[in-house]
Amino acid sequence: MNIILMGPPGAGKGTQAKKIVQEFKIPHISTGDMFREAMKEGTPLGTLAKKYINEGHLVPDDVTIGIVKERLAKKDCAHGYLLDGFPRTTPQAEALEKLAKDIDREVTLVINISCDREELIRRICGRRVCKVCGAPYHIDTAKPKVDGICDLCGGPLIQRADDNKEALMVRLDHYEKQTKPLLEFYKARGLVVDLDGSKDSAVLFSEVKKLLKGLKR
Ligand SMILES: [Zn+2]
Repeated sequence: MNIILMGPPGAGKGTQAKKIVQEFKIPHISTGDMFREAMKEGTPLGTLAKKYINEGHLVPDDVTIGIVKERLAKKDCAHGYLLDGFPRTTPQAEALEKLAKDIDREVTLVINISCDREELIRRICGRRVCKVCGAPYHIDTAKPKVDGICDLCGGPLIQRADDNKEALMVRLDHYEKQTKPLLEFYKARGLVVDLDGSKDSAVLFSEVKKLLKGLKR
């Protein structure tokens, strides 16, 4: 059960990732967490990545790929993993294919959660978040009891600066441009399953579950 999870912002990738990890007891490996872990553990690659980040540089692909390899080789990935946020480019996908083969942990499925723009805009532009405790709300689907006030702590609800339509369109264009070649790469290998992210998250997860139960461990 070696899975890559893909989907644009707002498609519900985070929610599905959480549910998959709980249900199937496989580690959720996001790029950010992976870097933080490697840096904290002070592995040679983690130390190298830290140096780039501290100097304000992007971490080069070979370092990132090395960190992915170290992470996927760990014991907790023996029965599967859920990769989130990696690979982002075709060269990274090629490198992943090679390193996963080396450690006998090849990708077996790419779940692509898609969702039309109208719905993504509705979801993201309606998002509000508590300024104090960070609790999430939505103007249509997750209203607070009192308008503009957090149910949990009484703090004010705000809209994040990049949760507006213009910024979102830029993010979506960028996402589509970046993802298209990746999806082609995995489609050519027969690994992609498309799921409809506009569905209710519980319904979507029942489809995910069915899909994953069909995979051999
Ligand atoms: Zn709050």
